[in-house]
Amino acid sequence: MSDELRKKGKDFADFLQGLTEEEIREGNKAEFLRAQEEHARFKKMYDDGLCYLCNKPLSSFSRKTPCIHWLLKPKGFKKKDIKAVAERFGIFQIQSLLRWYANEEAFARNINNLVDEGSGSKLIELTIKYKIEKGTEGLFLNQFVKLNKI
Ligand SMILES: [Zn+2]
Repeated sequence: MSDELRKKGKDFADFLQGLTEEEIREGNKAEFLRAQEEHARFKKMYDDGLCYLCNKPLSSFSRKTPCIHWLLKPKGFKKKDIKAVAERFGIFQIQSLLRWYANEEAFARNINNLVDEGSGSKLIELTIKYKIEKGTEGLFLNQFVKLNKI
């Protein structure tokens, strides 16, 4: 880590320590409201069957424009296409959006991030399911993480 980055980190830690209880509450409230607004925009798009990121139908798939909504497995999507999504988006952005999709279908039931239930072989152990029907393969974020390690 460069000295400049280290200094920035220390300055930020000092700034956080210097905040009053009131400032912390206001900051948390502002962040919470921002997240709520963001989710409301997501929800409106989702209810219309559209992707919150690319504005295209969730059922659409075009190799020219990789998007996280591909992980909902639109027609034409293949496992090998995950790499293009991983090159464009970070794991935390992907995780966050997939959690929103999974929660739209069934709140908290479709997400498993319990460390005890993981294999221990991956950097991140997380399973997010979305619209899994009998006889179909589900969406497993674990597969994405494995690809990312190659
Ligand atoms: Zn999209």
